[in-house]
Amino acid sequence: MNTSNPKPANGFQQFLYSLAKSINDILDPAPEPGTPVVGIPDIYTGVVTGSLGFPAGNGLTFTSTQPATGTVVVGSDGTFTYTPTLAARQAAGLSTVNDFTATVHEGLSSSTVSVTVPVDPGTPVAGALTVGTPDSSTGVVTGLALFTDTVGRSVTYSAPTTSTAGGTVIINPTTGAFTYTPSLAARNASATTGANIDTFTVTANNGIRNATETVAVTIVPSATYVTINLVWDPDSSAHWPSDVRSALQSAANYLASYFVVSSSVTVTVGFTNYSGGTYGVYAQPASSCTSSGCEPVARTKILTGVDINGADAEGSINFNYFPELIGGGANKGSLQAVTMHELMHILGWGTSATYSSFLTDINGNHVAAGDSTFNANLTGANGGLYFGGPNAVAANGGLVKLYTPDPYAPGSSVAHLDGLLNDPVPRLMNPNPGNPPARVLTPTELGVLKDLGYSVVPQPALAGFLILNLGLLGRKRSRSRVVLGAASDTRH
Ligand SMILES: [Zn+2]
Repeated sequence: MNTSNPKPANGFQQFLYSLAKSINDILDPAPEPGTPVVGIPDIYTGVVTGSLGFPAGNGLTFTSTQPATGTVVVGSDGTFTYTPTLAARQAAGLSTVNDFTATVHEGLSSSTVSVTVPVDPGTPVAGALTVGTPDSSTGVVTGLALFTDTVGRSVTYSAPTTSTAGGTVIINPTTGAFTYTPSLAARNASATTGANIDTFTVTANNGIRNATETVAVTIVPSATYVTINLVWDPDSSAHWPSDVRSALQSAANYLASYFVVSSSVTVTVGFTNYSGGTYGVYAQPASSCTSSGCEPVARTKILTGVDINGADAEGSINFNYFPELIGGGANKGSLQAVTMHELMHILGWGTSATYSSFLTDINGNHVAAGDSTFNANLTGANGGLYFGGPNAVAANGGLVKLYTPDPYAPGSSVAHLDGLLNDPVPRLMNPNPGNPPARVLTPTELGVLKDLGYSVVPQPALAGFLILNLGLLGRKRSRSRVVLGAASDTRH
């Protein structure tokens, strides 16, 4: 008779065994089972390992029943290995389990414990990702995101229709083959900011579980684009840290990426800085006047490619303080917002005859340049003043209120959108950058640019563009009031 796993064969053996066991149970009881420890299934094999929960050693031996849909092997150290059948895994759901009973033997004594193990239902596993070379003209990228299920289930594929940078994604649900088309905005951004990677997520589902994989694709830059170059005068270059200058050029690049042009054009903007007078920031667009009025040179250059002032800058931004005074490094976000705001003025926002031609009162009556009839509206009388360009009105759902409060307040100007100092939804062209500062053009602001004659595309905030902002910097301006229709002397 096997004394480690006794099986009495006849009545006499049974009698002897019962007697011996009774004595053994008193003198040498079987160990109490602890709590089995059950591991997590291996995603490939489904194998689960663990401990039966009995103390090991001291001559203890272990046995186990076999579950219906798998195999259990117990070790001499009280551990176990459970291997499910493939059929069991293919039939399993997320909460399917299998049970077996394990026994510890000590001499003639024994005790048992029931062990419950999870049956792994399989999972899709990503294979080698295939990403093709972008089409140099269209930017289209094709590829294959193939997954294989660990138990052979069929896999279906899905992906968001829009990529991180606004591109279009189409995926074959059966094969995982995808086609990515970059957005024009992303291609412009790539041309002007150098950002050249877009991403999207492919999800594979085996009917039970999802698995995902991030696909990175290269964005082909637009063939034609606008560049805005900030040119630092020696004084500002000396006082503004290089990381701040880099952040402000990034903001200029980002603003430029909104514009669509038929031939590439570069706008140069001087960045000047002086220490004197009242703190403030203002933009000074170079302008030219024709029979139809004064237009910023930058606007003419972008719209027509004609460079009216030759090698001269198309405008300048004057920051009348040093970044050391306001902790420039920590306030890059605000400085970027201010820079983008002033660049918008240089491009014609509030500084061009075309912009002025769309000014109206609250009833949509046109406010003619130089017409003193509406001067009282500048300080809020009769409902103030509005921008009535058709694209802006369509985007805004009505006339666009301009910042003409009563009483007059700093920043009050037809060149600014109506917004409060701490507007909960700050806009770039509000009188104040807001907290957090607005650095993405709203549909209404894009509408104004369209009314100025530009082709623009919506642009998501670029990854890496949002920079820590403490919101300590206010956009300060001289208090000179805007003269309706004047282009060259606007300061704000
Ligand atoms: Zn302004």
